[in-house]
Amino acid sequence: MKKGKKLYEGKAKIIYATNDKNLVIQYFKDDATAFNNQKKSVIEGKGVLNNRISEHILSNLSQIGIKNHLVKRLNMREQVIKLVEIIPIEFIIRNVASGSITKRLGIEDGTVLKEPLIEYCLKDDKLGDPLIAEEHIMAFEWATKKEIEKVKKMILRINDFMIGMFRGVGIKLIDFKLEFGRLKVNGKDEVILADEISPDTCRLWDSITDKKLDKDRFRKNLGDLIPAYTEVAKRLGILHEQSNVSAVNVTKLSSVKRKRK
Ligand code: 5GP
Repeated sequence: MKKGKKLYEGKAKIIYATNDKNLVIQYFKDDATAFNNQKKSVIEGKGVLNNRISEHILSNLSQIGIKNHLVKRLNMREQVIKLVEIIPIEFIIRNVASGSITKRLGIEDGTVLKEPLIEYCLKDDKLGDPLIAEEHIMAFEWATKKEIEKVKKMILRINDFMIGMFRGVGIKLIDFKLEFGRLKVNGKDEVILADEISPDTCRLWDSITDKKLDKDRFRKNLGDLIPAYTEVAKRLGILHEQSNVSAVNVTKLSSVKRKRK
């Protein structure tokens, strides 16, 4: 497969064309941003870990019948994915209140929700990804009612699976963000899971200590982001227990891979 020109560059990923019009390459950058791009940094090795963790979760979801864009991981930082038309909505799933909902509604951080709560945000950086209602989605035709019904069913299955997967390795799944895209199958649009699922897009707390193992370490200046993401990867069985993935090691690994290409 030949890597073509850059099609799109987001805050944490770059999409490249390939010689197959239906497939693109998703490259995971080390850039970290928060608060609508007001806080920025480069954290060496973050992209490598997110690529591995997202590959692991999406392939597991595939096995339980959740169709998604992942075709295969190519190397330390890249994966081949199906080209989809992204639905311009960020779907937020909350099991425990934390982050924006605590500020918006005055709910205490750590409040366990009786049922998973799904929120919708318009994917628009200029507007700061505003919270929207299902009615806005229909009114402005960002997605159809049928698509939203299908997405909601998929979300609840994904949430059930991920809660169990993380619980098994001593991690609480507090909340996460998903994106979905449309894929043409036999001339018809099918909605599939897209983007990434990683500690950049989830809140993950250690089950016993509530230690944050996710991007809140960056947002809240807690430090040690790479050790936290590495801990998630190790617990999921992606990295061997004895491997000590420091930022430097991860960077070395990825540059070795780059030189070999
Ligand atoms: P909150 O609404 O509390 O900021 O975020 C809820 C959850 O969705 C968190 O797990 C957060 O990481 C994820 N999330 C929401 N919006 C974004 C986004 O624009 N980028 C990323 N990486 N994650 C997001």
